[in-house]
Amino acid sequence: MSGRVQDQISGQIKGWCPGALRPMVSGDGLVVRIRPHAGRLGAAQARALADLAGTHGNGLIDLGSRAHLQLRGVTEAGLPALHQSLLQLDLLDSSAEAEARRNILTTPLHRDGDETLALVAALEEALREAPPLPAKFGFAVDTGARAILGSASADLRIERAASGLILRAEGMVRGEPVTAATAIPRLMEILGWFLAQGSATRMARLTATPPLAATEAPLSGPALSPGMTGAGLCLALPFGQLQADMLRALAIAPLRLTPWRSVILEGVGAAPVQGLIETADDPLLRVAACTGAPGCLSAAAPVRDLARALAPLVPRGRHLHVSGCAKGCAHPGAARLTLTAGVGGFDLIENGPASATPVLRGLSPDDIPAILRGRLDPQL
Ligand code: SF4
Repeated sequence: MSGRVQDQISGQIKGWCPGALRPMVSGDGLVVRIRPHAGRLGAAQARALADLAGTHGNGLIDLGSRAHLQLRGVTEAGLPALHQSLLQLDLLDSSAEAEARRNILTTPLHRDGDETLALVAALEEALREAPPLPAKFGFAVDTGARAILGSASADLRIERAASGLILRAEGMVRGEPVTAATAIPRLMEILGWFLAQGSATRMARLTATPPLAATEAPLSGPALSPGMTGAGLCLALPFGQLQADMLRALAIAPLRLTPWRSVILEGVGAAPVQGLIETADDPLLRVAACTGAPGCLSAAAPVRDLARALAPLVPRGRHLHVSGCAKGCAHPGAARLTLTAGVGGFDLIENGPASATPVLRGLSPDDIPAILRGRLDPQL
């Protein structure tokens, strides 16, 4: 392993954010994270990425909660050529630090003629010159008709209120009115103020109140579900993953990536490929499962096939989390039921995260359906 990738592994221990220039090491090779500008892939970009996933990776592509893509199974030998191709596709930043700073979520429901794409471009430009930011510090440009990214993590948000655009800091209910011209300069002022506060890592953890004239609340709307939207058909990816062939099949139009592990096919009304989630009541949306074995080095067992098999047992309004280890990456919070893989089998946890004390230990996958049936009764 080269010194460069070795440095990247050590960097993971210190908790930096992975990217294309700082790939993560996983059980199936390197994981190369890509942040398309404004969360949007042109059809040609999507087709090219599908080719790259097969040429330099194992053909599996994750869609993550920052509306980013991850090519899995990339070899160290293939990394330079992959970087070169990503650069040609306008999908590579100038440095690992620059790609970490460009942690911007964009509403997938932006509309022709609204300010969204111009604001994202201006924010990207401003962040190029910004000082280093804490690892998970992020931004949301949520300027469709309503703000829909409220459930996704962001420290500074540009949103729409009844009177126009506002700038809002996480932890504040209201934001300061801004215009398309003043929004980014004002955001950068508040970012500078945050950095001057000292060692805080997130805006919501500050004890001081950001100096915003916060008078307007955003117009909020619900997070997106699979189905038709004003921008096109929204399709969710089972467990947030798709094969390169499926990405190629989807690339009949630009793709807007969402933080809910779904994509909107711009202007398209019918799914061009089977196997994705098209309706909000699909049982697969009631289960969460991480990469598990063999893709994750920490996993004690495979989890996704088990989660897929158990999904029909989960009634509406209930949620099952199947985790490869106690870290619980796929669902960090509490779930009604969680199955956590361990060396002796699966542990069952009720109303807790994957690391909580189990009520049953050492279950085999064959025993689990009968045990879950009683505990997932909708009447309980
Ligand atoms: S929860 Fe554990 S096994 Fe699953 S992806 Fe995270 S670290 Fe890996």
